[in-house]
Formats: sequence, C-alpha cells, structure tokens
Amino acid sequence: VNKPKVVILGAGYAGLKTAVDLQKKLGINEAAITLVNKNSYHYESTWLHEAAAGTLHHDKMCVDIKSLLNSKVTFVQDTVTDIKKDEQKVILENGELEYDYLVVSLGFESETFGIKGLKEHAFSIANINACREIREHMEYMFSKYRTEQRDELLTIVVGGAGFTGIEFLGELGNRIPQLCEEYAVPREKVRLICVEAAPMVLPGFDSDLVEYAVAHLEKKGVEFKIGTAIKECTPEGIVVAKGEEVEEIKAATVVWAAGVRGSSLVEKAGFNAVRGRVMVTGDLRLPEDDKVFIIGDCAAIMNPENDRPYPPTAQIALQEAEVCAKNVAVLVRGKGEMTEFKFDNKGTVCSLGHDDAMGVVFGKKIYGWKASFMKKVIDNRSLFLLGGAGLVMKKGKFKVF
Ligand code: FAD
Ligand code: NAD
Repeated sequence: VNKPKVVILGAGYAGLKTAVDLQKKLGINEAAITLVNKNSYHYESTWLHEAAAGTLHHDKMCVDIKSLLNSKVTFVQDTVTDIKKDEQKVILENGELEYDYLVVSLGFESETFGIKGLKEHAFSIANINACREIREHMEYMFSKYRTEQRDELLTIVVGGAGFTGIEFLGELGNRIPQLCEEYAVPREKVRLICVEAAPMVLPGFDSDLVEYAVAHLEKKGVEFKIGTAIKECTPEGIVVAKGEEVEEIKAATVVWAAGVRGSSLVEKAGFNAVRGRVMVTGDLRLPEDDKVFIIGDCAAIMNPENDRPYPPTAQIALQEAEVCAKNVAVLVRGKGEMTEFKFDNKGTVCSLGHDDAMGVVFGKKIYGWKASFMKKVIDNRSLFLLGGAGLVMKKGKFKVF
C-alpha cells in the first residue's frame, strides 16, 4: 500500500509528543510515521540545569525513545544535516528520507550573538553532553584547587539572569556546599557571579517574585552584577562592561545562559527565519509550504496581547505538538478540519534549587515550598504527556524537600 509518509525531526517535547499522539490517532495502514533523533534517548530539557549543576544525574532525565513508541512509528537514530523542501527530502548523516508531510521540531541551540570567545571558552546549558561537561569541569576545578590554590579556580560566572541562569544558580546554591565538603574547600573561597545586561534580574517578570528570587540566591552566596553585559570571554575569564566601566573577572568556569535560538538547520534549509525561528501559519505550517509543520523552539507565534512572539517554552511546545498531530492526521486522511493553534498559558514556575521556587500559576503568585511542589507537579506532568503514568513512576520527582 502507498501510505502517506510522515517524518518527524527531533524527539524533544515537540517531536516526541507529536509522534506519541499520532501513534494513538492513526491506524497502522493509514500512514508510515518516522521519528528521527540524533540520540537514542529523549531528554527533559527543562531539567538540564540540574544535570549541569550535578544535583540530579543525567540518567534520571533521559528516556529511551523506543520504549515510548509502538510498531506504528519507525525510529531512526541519526543526525539531520539538511532539509530539501523542493524535493520533499531530509538529508541525514547516514542516509535520506522522503516525506509527504514533515514536522520540524529540532529545538534550540545556544545563541552567543557573536560575542568574542564565548563559543571557545564558555559552557552552555544546551544538551545532556554539554551539561555533563559543566558538572565535571566544576568538580575538576575544585580538585585542582587542592593543589594550586588559585582563587579563580573557584569562581563560577553565569551569564544571563533569565530563567535558565536563575534556575542554574538555584541548583548551584545547593551543590556548592556539597563540593566544598567533598574537596575540603572553605565556602567563602567560592564566588558565584551572575552577570545580567538588563537593568533587572528576570527582565519583565513580576517584581515581587524577582525580589524573592534575588534574596534567596544572595543568601546562598550569589553576587549579582546587574546592568552589566558580557563583552568577551577569554581563557582566563570574562570582560564585562557597565556603561563606560570595563572590568575583567578571572574565572575558571563561565556558563553562558544568556540566549537561545532555534536550530540553525532551519536557516540552512532556506526557511524564512529570525534566529532559527519561523513565523508559522495559524495551523503551524511553513507559510510557503503547506507540507511542512514547524513546532517547538523552531517556531514563532505572535502573542496578540503584546504583539511579540511567545517565549519558546516546553509548555507551548507540548501544546503545539497536540495541534500538529491533529492536523497531520487530517491531512493524512484527507478529511476533517484543520485546527488553529491557540496558546493556553498556565503560568511560569522558576525553581530555586530542589527545595524552593517562585512563580505564577493560573494568574496567582506562589512562593517557597508550595511553588517548589508545583514545579515538581509540572515536571511530572510533562513526563505523563509523553509516556503516561508508567513514565512518571520511572522518572518522576516525588521528593518534596
Ligand atoms: P528540544 O527540547 O531542544 O528538543 C530537540 C530534539 O531534537 C532533541 O532531542 C535533540 O537531540 C534533537 N535534535 C536537534 N538537532 C538534531 C539534528 N540535527 N538531528 C537529529 N536530532 C536533532 N520551558 C518551560 O516551559 N518550562 C520550564 O521550566 C523550562 N525550563 C527550562 C530549563 C532549562 C535549563 C532550559 C535550557 C530550558 C527550559 N525551558 C523551559 C525551555 C524548554 O526546554 C524548551 O522550550 C523546549 O525544550 C523546546 O522543546 P523542543 O521539542 O522544541 O526542543
Ligand atoms: P532568555 O533569553 O530568556 O534570557 C537571557 C538573559 O540574558 C536575558 O535576561 C538577557 O538580558 C541576558 N543577556 C543577554 N545578553 C547578555 C550579555 N551579553 N551579558 C549579560 N546578560 C545578557 O534565555 P533563557 O533564560 O535561556 O530562557 C530561554 C527560554 O526558555 C525562555 O523562553 C524561557 O522562558 C524558557 N525557560 C523557562 C523556564 C521556566 O519556565 N522555569 C526555565 C528556563 C528557561
């Protein structure tokens, strides 16, 4: 039988959710569904700051992709290198795939805005391997301090006080005392510096919640340099500027958490994009090609309330995937109505280590253990959406304090 070929690129929140929804919706004879991902595992990107700090082992946030798929989806472990939309073909490192319908869900990459030295000398919280490097590097710097006693070995700079930077600092607040104990290093020797270019931490977020986060992190020893931009990264540390004032900070660990972009393959494929993000149609397709869906961090959707694109989050990626799967099923069957995507914003919760958090849920501000509990509920919910109760039991977060 000549079944329509559906190819999904990337098994993050967006791609994996599309695949698991489609395998429920479509019969085995209705479509040939293929999911491509560079690793055999999916990782919970929203937990990456924990892997980077070393507060949660990366195995806890990785899920074997095949374990979530049934026989309706073929999994191909390979790296996408190009998309040829005119030929309806995807190029992989080890082959090619033809498609009738394509879902591009290749996710995010770190964006360094061309700042000198960042790519070479800074780390980024971008994927599991990058986070392993951060964790191991910090540990190595602590062990090196035992013999070399140079203060900069214990200086950690976090670039950016967006949600990623703040959540990472929250984890470091718990991790640093453990490292100090393990390597017999006095806590006061360790410097945790956060550099933020905007005039406030978490620009645009509720000021009460921001104050709460800053007070919590300062208590854990974080020094904030606000209104200060990273201008350069060198093998010795960073150069920052506050107005005309330029300062060099010596630091053995620099983690860039100050920007993300959609996959650069989106631009390579010739799609019209700004920083790897395509302004999609109401039903989540490429404006110039109705066979191609783009979802997750590679998609941009306008928020009618402020005329700016919604921030790229797991929350919106999962919702987009649901609509995308519905729409792919309509096209495969050649009947039914396409669904227009509408974002249902449930709020934002920002963790401050495993035992504290703050945020807004259904329009209500929450702090402390309640927020921390809610954050774990959200983390478990995302597992549930991908793999049902079984996955929550295997990988879920149940320890409240
Ligand atoms: P991704 O999760 O990036 O998945 C993309 C997938 O594609 C990956 O599996 C990757 O391996 C694969 N891939 C990439 N390139 C290729 C290729 N060339 N070939 C084959 N496979 C490829 N959002 C929230 O809503 N709430 C939060 O609390 C939250 N916390 C976050 C914390 C951190 C530390 C970070 C970094 C982000 C956080 N986010 C949060 C944002 C959220 O993680 C992203 O918006 C979300 O991961 C986007 O999902 P995605 O499926 O588009 O992409
Ligand atoms: P971001 O773009 O949201 O924040 C980056 C921060 O870095 C900004 O505050 C910016 O002013 C600052 N910055 C930029 N250039 C700088 C420079 N040269 N020097 C110093 N500071 C600089 O990026 P992010 O925090 O990685 O978040 C990415 C996406 O993931 C967002 O959509 C965010 O909402 C989402 N996210 C959500 C959560 C959550 O809901 N708990 C957690 C993490 C990330």
